[in-house]
Amino acid sequence: MASPPLFDRIGRFLEGEVRADAPLAPWTSIRVGGPAELWVKPASIDALVTTLSLARSEGVPVHVLGGGANSLIGDGGIPGVTVKLPGDLFAEERQIRADDGLITLCAGAAIAKITNAMKALGLVGAEFLAGIPGTVGGAVTMNAGTRSGECMTVVDAVELATPDGVGWVDARELRYGYRHTVLPPGAVVTRARFRLPKGDVAESQRKMDEDLGYRKRTQPLSQPNCGSVFVNPRPHHAGALIEQVGLKGHRIGRAQISTLHANWIVNLGGATALDVTSLMALAQRRVFERFGVELKAEVKKVGVFTPIPEE
Ligand SMILES: Cc1cc2nc3c(=O)[nH]c(=O)nc-3n(C[C@H](O)[C@H](O)[C@H](O)COP(=O)(O)OP(=O)(O)OC[C@H]3O[C@@H](n4cnc5c(N)ncnc54)[C@H](O)[C@@H]3O)c2cc1C
Repeated sequence: MASPPLFDRIGRFLEGEVRADAPLAPWTSIRVGGPAELWVKPASIDALVTTLSLARSEGVPVHVLGGGANSLIGDGGIPGVTVKLPGDLFAEERQIRADDGLITLCAGAAIAKITNAMKALGLVGAEFLAGIPGTVGGAVTMNAGTRSGECMTVVDAVELATPDGVGWVDARELRYGYRHTVLPPGAVVTRARFRLPKGDVAESQRKMDEDLGYRKRTQPLSQPNCGSVFVNPRPHHAGALIEQVGLKGHRIGRAQISTLHANWIVNLGGATALDVTSLMALAQRRVFERFGVELKAEVKKVGVFTPIPEE
């Protein structure tokens, strides 16, 4: 990787944490993957816009990393610029109104801040976000949620940065669907404003406790993982199909299809992205051969991946 030239071309002009060949695995929940060619943690919103505009003028790709809870980074790392937004680029804002409240959070802040602020203000309606790891920016981009609800239904507005500047967009102008929100190309979410109604906080807490208990019982939370690996191919469940083809607990290298939930892959310590993608390909092949169902990845693959060896 030509890291010194990229550092010279872009990095040295930027304000913030800027590193060439920076390891990324520690910044993801599954802890695999190679380095960022250039890692930038901008010190300010202006530094972010400068990063985006210099990258554009140099023709360099930009990847935004949130909490890395839905990202699988290739062993060859991420070419170009990887932007990591700090969690405190803006102060949290809370506003209570007659029937509802507004909570504005920095995109780099943890998703848990939404539910914490909701509780503190006597608001309800974002219970489904409890226990989802990652950042506010990742939750907006992925339209994170569960069967009980999805992020974009409680978002009022989103602030976006592009190489040309920063501005707020009404959430009604953004299209979204299952686990994705359509953002303008190259846009980075810098803040999100949530609008939530007042309601029964005790009942809201009860729902969140119930969900968290369910997660603890059914998900391998003590091992590094990236959440659900495949989208459920309705009316089926990816985990049930993978279990039925006998792959629950199957290992390749240091990655394993979880013994607790077959739609999850865990890192047993020292796994590579190739171990993970090989397991994914095996599950896809076996499920397709047996059921004719195509499993599509829910986890976002980013960067350069080693090809999976032919059997
Ligand atoms: C234990 C566990 C449980 C999970 N449970 C759920 C669940 O119940 N429901 C669910 O929906 N998900 C779940 N996930 C997946 C993950 O938590 C969500 O997708 C979350 O929203 C990812 O946020 P992140 O900040 O970690 O995103 P990342 O993984 O860092 O990024 C995901 C994508 O969003 C983009 N992105 C991130 N931030 C920005 C930004 N500021 N601007 C523009 N693009 C950005 C990235 O470029 C990437 O394409 C789970 C994951 C784990 C590990």
